[in-house]
Amino acid sequence: MRYIEPHAHMVSRTTDDYLSMVTAGCSAVCEPAFWAGFDRSGVQGFHDYFCQLTDYEPKRAAKFGLPHFCWLCINPKESEDMGLAAEVLSIIPGFIDRPTVLGIGEIGLNKNTRNELAILERHIDLAARHDQLILVHTPHLEDKHKGTRLILDAIQADSRIQPDRVIIDHVEEHTVEMVLDRGHWAGMTLYPESKCTAARAVDIIECYGGERLWLNSACDWGISVPLAVPYAGLEMRKRQFSAGRIDQLLYGNPQKFLSQNPRFKAL
Ligand SMILES: [Zn+2]
Repeated sequence: MRYIEPHAHMVSRTTDDYLSMVTAGCSAVCEPAFWAGFDRSGVQGFHDYFCQLTDYEPKRAAKFGLPHFCWLCINPKESEDMGLAAEVLSIIPGFIDRPTVLGIGEIGLNKNTRNELAILERHIDLAARHDQLILVHTPHLEDKHKGTRLILDAIQADSRIQPDRVIIDHVEEHTVEMVLDRGHWAGMTLYPESKCTAARAVDIIECYGGERLWLNSACDWGISVPLAVPYAGLEMRKRQFSAGRIDQLLYGNPQKFLSQNPRFKAL
């Protein structure tokens, strides 16, 4: 089995995780910018984080023969501080042309507040001005349906954004349809305790056919499983998916979306 891990927070993982991923058939890993498990005290913290994502982490992954790519933004959780968010937005263009940057993400909403929405719109504008792909984080649990709708409307309101250059991540049964209906890609996040299990993700694929869908582990500093994507491949095998179809879902689909940025190259 080969697969692409399109959403993983590798800065919080160990080298053992890199080794396991490569051994399981991982062909590329992509790391969106996100919350670090704590609030950063100023823009310098984000500068250092962007250096880590664009410089140090690709080198760490390369020791295991794994191509590493990243996305840049200030995450919705820390966007509540609009002064800080404006400062972070101002330093992103200085990193955007680095050779492993794929686009703007993971932007979106956390608690669906007015401030978060304002900063989301500024990120969408930034992506449009620099012709960047967009990766979107959708809120958790009870806020997800409303938050997803607010995000979709904010994207639709900017006519410069092509829907198929946007992936809306962490979709679940009640949000996947509205995302696909708008012409976007949808990501399913495989978590042991929340979001989507492998069985639920494969159910969703069976219902919606698997076009414009990808799976990721979003592994981070919390309880999460770096091998969740190949484990979902095993669930597909159990359900008699052909090898070709599994390859399409775990490798072909993310490859198609991410290759819209010519910098993306999987093994
Ligand atoms: Zn994430």
